[in-house]
Amino acid sequence: MLRRSIDARSRHPVYVLRVRVWIDEAPTPEAVFALRLSDVGNARPVVIVGAGPAGLFAALKLIEGGMRPIVLERGKDVRSRRIDVARLSRSGVVDGESNYCFGEGGAGTFSDGKLYTRSTKRGEVGRILNILVRHGADQDILIDAHPHIGTNRLPGVVQALRETIVAHGGIVRFGSRVSGLLRSNGAVVGVTTAQSDRIEGAAVLLATGHSARDIYEMLHREGVELEAKPFALGVRVEHPQSLVDAIQYRCATRPTALPPASYSLLTRVADRGVYSFCMCPGGIICPATTAQEEVVVNGWSPSRRDSRWANSGIVVEAGLGDMSSFAVRGSEALAGVAFQASIERAAAQAGGGMAVAPAQRLADFVEGRASTDLPDCSYSPGLRATDLAAVFPSPIANALREGLRTFGDKMRGYLTNQAVVVGVETRTSAPLRIPRDRETCMHSSTPGLYPCGEGAGAAGGIVSAAMDGERCAQAILRANGSDRASS
Ligand SMILES: Cc1cc2nc3c(=O)[nH]c(=O)nc-3n(C[C@H](O)[C@H](O)[C@H](O)COP(=O)(O)OP(=O)(O)OC[C@H]3O[C@@H](n4cnc5c(N)ncnc54)[C@H](O)[C@@H]3O)c2cc1C
Repeated sequence: MLRRSIDARSRHPVYVLRVRVWIDEAPTPEAVFALRLSDVGNARPVVIVGAGPAGLFAALKLIEGGMRPIVLERGKDVRSRRIDVARLSRSGVVDGESNYCFGEGGAGTFSDGKLYTRSTKRGEVGRILNILVRHGADQDILIDAHPHIGTNRLPGVVQALRETIVAHGGIVRFGSRVSGLLRSNGAVVGVTTAQSDRIEGAAVLLATGHSARDIYEMLHREGVELEAKPFALGVRVEHPQSLVDAIQYRCATRPTALPPASYSLLTRVADRGVYSFCMCPGGIICPATTAQEEVVVNGWSPSRRDSRWANSGIVVEAGLGDMSSFAVRGSEALAGVAFQASIERAAAQAGGGMAVAPAQRLADFVEGRASTDLPDCSYSPGLRATDLAAVFPSPIANALREGLRTFGDKMRGYLTNQAVVVGVETRTSAPLRIPRDRETCMHSSTPGLYPCGEGAGAAGGIVSAAMDGERCAQAILRANGSDRASS
């Protein structure tokens, strides 16, 4: 079997399979995927900042090419991190260094583990999926049209990736927060950490994700050029899964042969795109903030996707004009970060503290009515009924409302007070770009620095961040004359 998908457009959904068939001949064996890793314990070091998908896959690629990755991660190893994430969900206490965004595996670890990407580079995507399978992910991800690992399985995969890096002479250091750059003759040659370490290497690959605001500020302070960029923000909407199943499969009860249904919605309101983002069928809404004084939500689902709820981000494009009044010390580059933070703080105030999120019933939100109570919701720190639109600048709130109204027309039954809207979903992508050269992947005006992954504005999602990690590592190998071994 080469590919498996579901076509649910008719009343009778069908599985669509692509298979390879041999007739009157012996089947040709499938090529076995192999990673060619040797010991790099004595090789030239490269500093990688951040152990998310971009950092981890960059490390593996460097080992393949014969260089030694030194991965510095501000958060904890995945086992210890699990305890902090559980406490955050249970009691709303945020550990600023160990949460849904920071720690081993990055934002990908306790994510949904959906592995879709818009990339059309089949070979590169296949390589990432094969590496994940070699480290414990289910073989099904190689054939499913919408591959998914699940939050319960991801930590094991992430730990196995780290063990491979360490077994081949790479280094992974936790509790190591990078706070400055070391330079020689204008080129970046290493980093300093908040723990007073100085670590040098042939290059510095910066893969710190979209939530490392201190890194953006450090770069700005150090005179590294940054560019403002648009990003999307909005809310997370949660319906009973049974309702989404009934709408999508057009039947009262979902047949057991079918997975929990999902949806993908898109419209335009005036000059803004409004769309569903990171849909989690059978999932949970989680607190994805990195600071106690802010509220941010996101979603995940376990591998079986068996919760009672279906959640999805519904987000609106925010342009540079929305952010311009947030310029920091005269610089537009950090305006997006300040704009994003202001909405997250407003959400925390509306929620009342301890990661409690502001919320409203869906139809009430669209009609501008107060919700006197709220339905059951998967978000465990708790919800507070409030006027959610007040958290956003009015053009964003109006676009969200109009967009949701259109989605109610497209998906009959979607626009209902059985659903709840939870705020705020603000970390959909980086609020700025760290510019880099297309060919060399090096920062446009800072030699030795390789901005990488989602934090650089160069990727969005687990697979594309992993692919970008490989791309930047390959560029570093090329610049150091080591690229043959890994190509
Ligand atoms: C709850 C949730 C669900 C998601 N679901 C999906 C999904 O289903 N599918 C999908 O494709 N994507 C999903 N995403 C997005 C996905 O996780 C990210 O796109 C991806 O992880 C980005 O990879 P990255 O390596 O670029 O950055 P990150 O994963 O953000 O990793 C950055 C790492 O850098 C570390 N770091 C930051 N600052 C420093 C510093 N100063 N010093 C040292 N280390 C530092 C951080 O601790 C972190 O570990 C989800 C995200 C969340 C939060």
